[in-house]
Amino acid sequence: MDRRMTMTRRSFLASTSCLGAALWAARAFPAPALGAEIAGDKRVSPQPLADKGFASVRKIGDGVYATISDLSKGLETLSNGGFILGSDAALLIEGFRSPAGASFQHAALRQVSAVPVRAALDTHYHFDHTLGNAFYGAQGIAIWAHEKAAPLMVERYVVGQGRDRAGQIAPLEKRVADATSESGRDRANGDLKLMKLVVESIDSAVISLPNHPLETSKLPATVDLGGIRAVIEAYPGHTPGDLIVRVPDRNIVFTGDLLFSSAYPATFDADMSGWRKTLETFSGYDRETLFVPGHGPLCGPEGIATLRAVLDDLAGQAAQMYKAGIPVDEAQQRYAVPDRFKGFPILAWSFCIGPAIAKLYEEFKSGGNQPG
Ligand SMILES: [Zn+2]
Repeated sequence: MDRRMTMTRRSFLASTSCLGAALWAARAFPAPALGAEIAGDKRVSPQPLADKGFASVRKIGDGVYATISDLSKGLETLSNGGFILGSDAALLIEGFRSPAGASFQHAALRQVSAVPVRAALDTHYHFDHTLGNAFYGAQGIAIWAHEKAAPLMVERYVVGQGRDRAGQIAPLEKRVADATSESGRDRANGDLKLMKLVVESIDSAVISLPNHPLETSKLPATVDLGGIRAVIEAYPGHTPGDLIVRVPDRNIVFTGDLLFSSAYPATFDADMSGWRKTLETFSGYDRETLFVPGHGPLCGPEGIATLRAVLDDLAGQAAQMYKAGIPVDEAQQRYAVPDRFKGFPILAWSFCIGPAIAKLYEEFKSGGNQPG
């Protein structure tokens, strides 16, 4: 009893201190490089325009900048983002995890231009892409998002804000304490730490909802920023409302979390077959396309191919287990990371692997997707 209390308290302290959270996140998502295959891409500046540790902003094309997070140094941004800059206006991409993250990106824009900001666009409702929106709101910047983003933020974040979180945290702490294997304890610990980070991020935020919903019936939409166009499109996959921003004049795509680069994706809100179709579409883009993923290093089309292979592997193993009659709860734990993806970060087993297997089982059961 005493030992358990001590361990719980110690792990709690470790994860609630910013450093503890950053160290855990850095292990989950190692510091991203540019991705070896694009290191030689002449569009990508080797020197960042701005670097705050937790993220750096670098030019990746004429008038296009990427904000890339480094979780080993802090979690202010947590996701990647960027901005597109024309002669008349700029479009900021992502609200990040905190106003400090959004402020950093805005300040980087102001280092290179004084043009008005047309809007800041959240690619989807997740906390690490939206909780810094308050900074944009205070600057009078319109916040654009998929029409489903604001209602989802209300349902998942606003409604529970400031409530007693014991009911969410206690079962995860119990799983850590009750774990009978090292891998079981590691997975439970990862789930607990991510849940604490999500809850603390929500409870400390002044939540600012997107105030300019983009209706899917009106997409794609082209925004002329002056000499450069941003094309906003909606695709199924990561959540019920995901947007991407294409810059066709530069062959660059901001994918939001429809692309996790060299990592296992978060699937708890996912439409698995929809996502695989979306990636098939992306794989048809020009071979010179540069992708700014929601998480992980910048990449070319090989980043899309890799995530497709990860989703194929999840679907393949799920199909085998389904046909063998393995119950879903067991299948969620039994998934085996193949050697070729061994170095890939998994933010948390219960946010990435478990829901992917469960959703694939549902698809097999409903007959919409036959197990291979
Ligand atoms: Zn996400």
